[in-house]
Amino acid sequence: MRQLVKLKMKFELKDCLSVIILILSVILFQSQAMSTTLLSEHHTVPESIKKEAKEAFSFYPELENVDIDIRFKKEIKKSTMQAQPQFWSLLKGKKGRRYVIFISKKIKITDSEFSTKHIPFNVIVGWLGHELGHVCDYQNRSSFGLVKFGFKYLFSEKFIKQAERNADSFAIIHGMEDYIIVTKNFILDHANIPEDYKNRIKRFYLSPEEIMMLIDERDKKSDN
Ligand SMILES: [Zn+2]
Repeated sequence: MRQLVKLKMKFELKDCLSVIILILSVILFQSQAMSTTLLSEHHTVPESIKKEAKEAFSFYPELENVDIDIRFKKEIKKSTMQAQPQFWSLLKGKKGRRYVIFISKKIKITDSEFSTKHIPFNVIVGWLGHELGHVCDYQNRSSFGLVKFGFKYLFSEKFIKQAERNADSFAIIHGMEDYIIVTKNFILDHANIPEDYKNRIKRFYLSPEEIMMLIDERDKKSDN
């Protein structure tokens, strides 16, 4: 009898939680749906950066049928954008996978914050190109591989470096080098961007020399 009561309580708690999660998801979905617009059958993006997203997606024809949502988030720790697979979609296998690219609404620059709205067109395109590079990288991994990827990214600097360089490399292989360079220079040349952030970019991402080497390699391959 006592066990039955325990079981009942467990069920009720579980039901309660499911209802709460459902309500929260509806609220979240509605607030996101308001600010996003459909870029194509499989891609959504905030209206304010629609043109930039269109330009970035045009370099990645193989992502045409991959579900990707680009969304604003209030603040993202340590970076300005972040691409990740939607956790539940990992259970559906590669074809049912859905990715979200979060963009920080505000970028903290020393004491003042400035909105993504005031960042030049090419810089946003380069940023998105790098994030779509992450999506390409994820597409080559199994769902289990992606869960492992998430853990390693949290705990290993060496792994972060590898992941960020992969994303840059995918963007360059897809012909986005001009945008990637503009974005990098925007960060490194901006006097008010904190040194930590600049150092992070230098430490984890491709250097201008490495970018040039990749372009050479890519062009040699396409000549053959
Ligand atoms: Zn990245």
